[in-house]
Amino acid sequence: KRKNRLSIQEYKDGILSGNRVILSRAITLVESALDDDNELAAKLINEIYPYTGNSYRIGITGVPGVGKSTFIESFGAYLIEQNKKLAVLTIDPSSQKSGGSILGDKTRMEKLSVSSHAFIRPSPAGDALGGVAHKTRETMLLCEAAGYDVIFIETVGVGQSETAVKNMVDFFLLLMLAGAGDELQGIKKGIMEMADSIAITKADGNNLDASRQAKKEYQNALHLFPSNENGWNPQVLLCSALQNKGLEDTWKILTDYYFKMKQNGFFDFNRKEQSVHWMHQTINLYLKRNFYNRPEIIEKLATFEDAVRSGKKHSVQAARELLSFQVNN
Ligand code: GDP
Repeated sequence: KRKNRLSIQEYKDGILSGNRVILSRAITLVESALDDDNELAAKLINEIYPYTGNSYRIGITGVPGVGKSTFIESFGAYLIEQNKKLAVLTIDPSSQKSGGSILGDKTRMEKLSVSSHAFIRPSPAGDALGGVAHKTRETMLLCEAAGYDVIFIETVGVGQSETAVKNMVDFFLLLMLAGAGDELQGIKKGIMEMADSIAITKADGNNLDASRQAKKEYQNALHLFPSNENGWNPQVLLCSALQNKGLEDTWKILTDYYFKMKQNGFFDFNRKEQSVHWMHQTINLYLKRNFYNRPEIIEKLATFEDAVRSGKKHSVQAARELLSFQVNN
């Protein structure tokens, strides 16, 4: 594995020249669980950081079957026609647990995956100690340095990674189906509240009337949420990826948002706040890792878990004792 590593300079030059093979290898480095790799990855991110920040970062979420991959395929093709370079990073929370995956079983985005203007990469779901967003965010930075203008971060809208994604994107797009209640779709109110706009998918054929109806309902639902600090009113639009409808409208809403938020300062403000948030997230992640990776904690953890299970210690007491080992030794 080690032999496959390049030097920082080689990674950097490769990425900045848009070399996709080297970009892929750099992402593999970022995703590695090895300490050495992490260190190298951190250095690499430092090196490329000045070349990041120039893309439009867009989160796309929706439950399995809503039509995410079909939408991204069509919308991606549309953006490429507009001369954009697109990176699609998908986060699949199921991949770790089941070994299988919600997103990966079928061939997804066949056309995009062979386009020289698109770069598609599944992002690992992260480990028990978190870090889902961690690697995705760093991957996003690498893609920016490699010259991708638009970055999609796709998640399965079941509430596991959406908050993390919301905290790293400029715009959060929620895909919804007509004719199925929110309950049925498993979309939590919190996710709707995060949405900067909603696209109703599969608005074609027999589904068109129901989609128009759903549009009204979602518009009303959005009105009930408190208004955004940035002055943006989330829009609801209809689209059909199969018929290539609504793609232009989607892009119009995205560009409208972009220019308005640039103008009123929210765009930059939000990115700065996200960076600060990111610092805290990273501190949390590393504190947690350092704690759980300490030999004395590894040694004692199971005993403490048993003591809590059997009622010999209560949870808070056990936690405080474990934390004090950490501090004292
Ligand atoms: P994902 O699980 O959210 O990625 O959903 P997919 O993109 O795989 O789509 C799920 C199913 O919906 C597939 O059978 C698609 O062919 C179908 N589908 C996707 N987009 C459309 C659309 O715009 N119109 C219609 N009628 N069906 C669609």
